[in-house]
Amino acid sequence: MTSIIVHGGAGTYSPGAEHEKALAQACEAAARVLASGGSACDAAVEATVLMENAPVLNAGYGSSLNLNGEVENDAAIMLDDMSCGSVAALHGFANPILAARYVMERTDHVLLVGCGADAFARHAGLVERDQRSPARIERYRRARAKLERGEDIHFMPRLRAFYDELRNDPDWDGERDPESGTVGIVVRDESGRIAAASSTGGMMLKLPGRVGDTGVIGAGTYCDCRGGVSATGHGEPVIRHGMGRALVEAFADVGAAGAMARVMRTACDESFEFGLIGIDATGDVAIGYSTQAMSWAAFEDGVLRTFLSHPIPRST
Ligand code: ASP
Repeated sequence: MTSIIVHGGAGTYSPGAEHEKALAQACEAAARVLASGGSACDAAVEATVLMENAPVLNAGYGSSLNLNGEVENDAAIMLDDMSCGSVAALHGFANPILAARYVMERTDHVLLVGCGADAFARHAGLVERDQRSPARIERYRRARAKLERGEDIHFMPRLRAFYDELRNDPDWDGERDPESGTVGIVVRDESGRIAAASSTGGMMLKLPGRVGDTGVIGAGTYCDCRGGVSATGHGEPVIRHGMGRALVEAFADVGAAGAMARVMRTACDESFEFGLIGIDATGDVAIGYSTQAMSWAAFEDGVLRTFLSHPIPRST
């Protein structure tokens, strides 16, 4: 049995038709790769490239911008034999997942960051691209204006005070460039090989150099012979709790559904906001989220299902 599950982020956004189409197309593309004899890894990469190219998703073109108004991408891939590669704070490449795959296949390392990752991706001949879309720049402007007004930013309660310090720091160059949908996939092919991949622009207004869970193996992306996982949502608690690995470990104990229930209890106890997709060694799919919204598409037994949850409107 082959199983494919992709997500388009968890948070407070309202996923629309374009969002759903991008996830469905990614899922179908992964299915086509498997049907033509490609590996779980090929399928995961192909689908992630398509999601990175979709401006509506926060990965590749259309990524969120950091405090300086620049895009810094994180992406990772891991296979059931525990080979893995990732990049973080990568600047200006169309498809960060290709750089992550290249780290896995060509180096002795797991994670390359910043200017080292940029030089590596350039050496690999990957296509360079300004990842800022007009829609995402507009959202950045709105978020930045909120910060200027002294309002708190979701997930970053310390940013307001820190921002005041930065503005008075003559060495800080962040003032020069005044602005969800992280993506992930898990695939299990007919022969039982599993691959998990994730890609993101990270959180809007994050500090330059911040690395989220997506590029951290064991946190936002994890895979071994027991299953694979991709996470989304508030990256810092996902790193602290090693959510990706925690879910895969629980797969071996209690299967996909039981494992998801167990890790979701942690999320609820700790009240942090995140979403997870996973596939266990038998091909069973698990999905869970503690956020207001999450989107995903799954391909199981030849049937495509898509799911978009919307935030419940708050009464004023
Ligand atoms: N987890 C990502 C991060 O913290 C963001 C997201 O999934 O929306 O960078």
